[in-house]
Amino acid sequence: MEKFIYLDHNATTPTDPRVVAAMKPYFSEWYGNPSSVYKFAQKAQKAKELARSKVAKILNTKPEEIVFTSGGTEADNFAIKGVAYANKEKGNHIITSKIEHHAVLNTCKWLEKQGFNVTYIGVDKYGIVDLDELKDAITDKTILITVMHANNEVGTIEPIPEIAKLAKEKNVYFHTDAVQAVGKIPTDVNELGVDLLSLSGHKFYGPKGVGALFIRKRTKIDGLLHGGRHERNRRAGTENVPGIVGLGKTCEIAMEEREEEAKRLRALRDRLEKGIAENIEDVVINGHPGKRLAGTLNICIKYVEGESMLLNLDYEGIAASSGSACTSGSLEPSHVLLALGIPPEVAHGSLRFSLGRDNTDEDIDRVIEVLPPIVKKLRAMSPFGKDREGGLKWDTQKR
Ligand code: PLP
Repeated sequence: MEKFIYLDHNATTPTDPRVVAAMKPYFSEWYGNPSSVYKFAQKAQKAKELARSKVAKILNTKPEEIVFTSGGTEADNFAIKGVAYANKEKGNHIITSKIEHHAVLNTCKWLEKQGFNVTYIGVDKYGIVDLDELKDAITDKTILITVMHANNEVGTIEPIPEIAKLAKEKNVYFHTDAVQAVGKIPTDVNELGVDLLSLSGHKFYGPKGVGALFIRKRTKIDGLLHGGRHERNRRAGTENVPGIVGLGKTCEIAMEEREEEAKRLRALRDRLEKGIAENIEDVVINGHPGKRLAGTLNICIKYVEGESMLLNLDYEGIAASSGSACTSGSLEPSHVLLALGIPPEVAHGSLRFSLGRDNTDEDIDRVIEVLPPIVKKLRAMSPFGKDREGGLKWDTQKR
């Protein structure tokens, strides 16, 4: 039986066994409610605060500026809705990009229905946000700019310090969705210059359902969840102590291992990219050649459909994705690829490989071995492939 090869780490990662071990005592042994006063519960409270300092450390900030959430989606909602409502006396304009995750895009769409105006900034062919367009979009009604740190589909890393500079000059809050960045590239909030930053545990070997929002001191923000006075009255609800402890441990491990792992992943990713480009014709590599997450490879294979390739890869024991996990299953081509200017018929043939800790050279070589025959078979079946003379089988110009 062939080894199962998991190449979808941007969708989620396995929880590190060291993280699981750190979490374990907080389920059934030290299960106290951290808000309770007795000593037994204070053990949980202390563990939670130690985890907060570890999360703060990976962002080079203070523990008081970290609020725990149920993940990246909640952190994004909290940042965007929280700033929008707390600052609505000042203005009702928000700026974001066309390539954000749906956690940001759909939050902005919802706010539009509540009377806010949102500008969606375009990107270049590599997925880098257009800074001139962004600068021109800022008005005296702009209260928030939200642009992601690294894109989940193509891996492009955005010019966050430059955007922060523009935001600061105009006295506008700046949030970044760093869910795909934390634990993979440096995320010092002072070097980045952001006021708010979202992160999520399960994207870098932590548990699912836990994340955090960095909120710079003196940021005017409303709470999202109302109830008890948890998290210094910023996020109500009894804290997910095992998850929070796990997130702290995840950050600690990532700080130690991130750099070495990124080097290893880059080499593996480049091997995969080269192997595919050399063995399959008519392939487009998406995302920025250099400013890209080390483990991400997004390609479009012309004249075939991404979903069919995924099913065939799955049959071979290889898990990858076509666009983001959330859009898989929908027939719409990826909004990110369309924003990069890729024609819809090409975007339909997209595949995303996102590499991680367990992947080896052998895994990569197996993909390079099985993918070309899959593409050949699918192209032979497709009415849009090339004929024997190299012309298009179904050429609209000829008909
Ligand atoms: N933002 C980005 C860029 C993501 O990739 C994801 C996850 O797919 C999210 C936000 C949502 O995070 P979570 O799954 O923790 O809610």
